[in-house]
Amino acid sequence: MCRLVTDYLDKTAARFPDKTAFIDSDRSISFSELRSEAIIIANAIIARGIFKRPVLLFMEKSVSLVSAFLGVAYSGNFYSPIDVTMPDDRIMKIFEILDPALVITDKKHSDILRSIDNDADTIFIEDIRHAVSSEDTVTTNLSKVIDTDILYVLFTSGSTGMPKGVIIDHRAVVDFIDWISDCYDLSDRTVFANQAQLYFDLSIQDVYAPLKTGATTVLIPNRLYASPLRVWREIIKHRVNTIVWIPSMLSLFANLDILRNVEKAPLRTVLFCGEVMPTKHLNYWIDYYPDVTYANLYGPTECTEACTYYTLDRHFDDDDVLPIGKPCRNTDSIIISEDGDLISTPHSEGELCIRGTCLSSGYYGDPDSTRRSFVQNPFNKNYPEIIYRTGDIVCYNDHMELIYIGRKDFQIKKHGYRVELGEIEAAASSVDGVTNCCCIFDPAGEKIILVYTGDISEDDLNAAICTKVQEYMIPSEYIHRQQMLYNDNGKIDRISLTREYVNNTPEK
Ligand code: AMP
Repeated sequence: MCRLVTDYLDKTAARFPDKTAFIDSDRSISFSELRSEAIIIANAIIARGIFKRPVLLFMEKSVSLVSAFLGVAYSGNFYSPIDVTMPDDRIMKIFEILDPALVITDKKHSDILRSIDNDADTIFIEDIRHAVSSEDTVTTNLSKVIDTDILYVLFTSGSTGMPKGVIIDHRAVVDFIDWISDCYDLSDRTVFANQAQLYFDLSIQDVYAPLKTGATTVLIPNRLYASPLRVWREIIKHRVNTIVWIPSMLSLFANLDILRNVEKAPLRTVLFCGEVMPTKHLNYWIDYYPDVTYANLYGPTECTEACTYYTLDRHFDDDDVLPIGKPCRNTDSIIISEDGDLISTPHSEGELCIRGTCLSSGYYGDPDSTRRSFVQNPFNKNYPEIIYRTGDIVCYNDHMELIYIGRKDFQIKKHGYRVELGEIEAAASSVDGVTNCCCIFDPAGEKIILVYTGDISEDDLNAAICTKVQEYMIPSEYIHRQQMLYNDNGKIDRISLTREYVNNTPEK
């Protein structure tokens, strides 16, 4: 049995030393080489006297980034990978929250980091590649690590303008990887095509399932996803048989009718997670690949990756809604109505709450947000039992499968990216000349619209926002108003603004 993710690699490196573990556009690495690289990195970290502290990883998706994940884990510390293309403003906020003991980066990104005000020690991955290392130091440190120690912190959008660092421990990842490997027969014959960036929860099985099973993951550079044909070429070249992608990507293939003229791939398993999968696009895939296992996985970063799943076992018409199914192994779901009652019959809506080993222990350095979302199970008055309030509204269908209905708050998904509209509003409000603003979302066009008042042009506001938020959060449209619209409570009237600027919004 494996307690820590490093146990996975120890076993698999012994079982399949020469088998390819990861491939990127520059190199591939076997399990034994991966372990050696990780041990070297761990030694470099341990030599600095760092233990149980955050290590920020500032590198692009690559084999070296995976080695760094594991190096940090072998050293008894925890990592936080961040997007190297993020504006400096956001990088600075993450530094502020995480206060990393160490940054691991590569020479290519050293200039960006130099411009960020921080006093963390830095290791350049190139400088330690051939360093000597000792197993003993690592064994000593690892013997003090337990499975509830943090493995990583992933940053998601936060409504206050501060990103939220979701803490995930070793046992949550082991629990998820054990389940997904058993449920979908992942083995040393599995070849993944990784789509998600490694700073998103959707990449967890691409990184950790190979360590458990001996599978191989092809890390496809994200620039290729703009051209699905090039992605398909990689799939064919590496004989990929398993993908776990965001629905937007599968939809892109369907919208461009890519599967019609391309060589057949040896696909066995197609899983999707992170947002609603349009059934019409799923049916397109099923037309070309009828024998593949398809599943709709659901879960927030706070529940490691997926906490419910539905493996397709029947036909759905294009306008049917796909269930998000039932809880994954060792996980439980509760639906709580607006009045605080437990829902256990079909068609009544309520908030989905999750309990289980998969749960994060909270947001790093943010006890207030943690207390709001991670709460005592209201149906257990006898002992402490934490549940996570997902903010997602769901109900059961007649088969008692969970059906996703929508969000309770102002969190949206744009092309699979989780965005708190409040974070964009906080960024816009901080720009000189903006007096008031409100972000609304047009789901049909996946468009973020910023409505604002003040003395600044749309172009200038756009230029300022581009320096503060990640690319996918930048509004597609700016609407300048002389006066903001307020409701009877004196709050910005989001509903009326949405009705006015988003086409086809139903009257309430
Ligand atoms: P993230 O933390 O980026 O994984 O985003 C989590 C949120 O994405 C959830 O709270 C849901 O709102 C949404 N989500 C995840 N999976 C699904 C799914 N299969 N269907 C619909 N929405 C989903």
